[in-house]
Amino acid sequence: MGDNPASHVYVRNKVKACEDSGLHSVLEKYESHLSEADLLARIDALNQDPSIHGILVQLPLPAHMDAQKVIEAISPAKDVDGFHIASAGALMTGLPGFWPCTPYGCMKMLESIGYNLRGKHAVVIGRSNIVGKPMALMLLQQNATVTICHSATPNLKAMTLQADVIVAAVGQRNVLTADMVKPGAVVLDVGMNRNDEGKLCGDVDFAGVSEVASYITPVPGGVGPMTITMLLVNTVEAAEKTLHA
Ligand code: NAP
Repeated sequence: MGDNPASHVYVRNKVKACEDSGLHSVLEKYESHLSEADLLARIDALNQDPSIHGILVQLPLPAHMDAQKVIEAISPAKDVDGFHIASAGALMTGLPGFWPCTPYGCMKMLESIGYNLRGKHAVVIGRSNIVGKPMALMLLQQNATVTICHSATPNLKAMTLQADVIVAAVGQRNVLTADMVKPGAVVLDVGMNRNDEGKLCGDVDFAGVSEVASYITPVPGGVGPMTITMLLVNTVEAAEKTLHA
């Protein structure tokens, strides 16, 4: 919806990932003045369409729309972004459901390095519904001890220095610097920001922290591509579920 430049980039990358992986995708673009009722009707039609297994509404939506209401209009069976309250509830209670793609991708990266979270202290910086909170729940599910930090956390460094795993999901450059990281810690950088030269960068001072951390994800080329990958994984799973239904 509308002409948010970042949304256009994200959507283009998702369409390309579908094409590269052999998934059928349909991109529907709407002007920002489309009414909420018309968007809800469109989502309902996609809910009923058996050739569509996953529906994603790229956020942010224009101000006149109630984003939560729009997300709740997506059938939970097709909620491949994992933002529906049913998906959030499933994650909260440990039941099967679609996991939000960004924290899910972070978990896959930890799995790829054989990292055992049991008994480890994980510090998540950020508490949004799409990254920070689901990230904390996923880490908890894998038996980490989890601390969630946010803008009202008085001494962030005191928290991060205790961490075996740090996930930075704030949206501010250099939120995490080398002096805030315990030697050998694992650092996952979710942030997407622009530096003074206009280049994409994360929340973490990559050059400094990579001297201290045992594993660190770059921006670009880290969490971002994993997010799209997990979107495809969720979509394939949604399709498989209809075959077995
Ligand atoms: P958000 O909704 O703006 O949440 C940011 C969180 O950071 C909030 O919980 C906020 O605390 C906290 N925060 C702000 N300043 C802080 C500080 N100085 N110290 C500690 N915590 C602080 O953002 P989001 O949607 O979670 O996204 C976070 C970042 O990840 C953004 O850069 C976004 O672009 C990026 N992102 C990347 C991907 C990807 O695929 N790579 C996907 C999603 C998001 P309060 O709750 O107290 O305000």
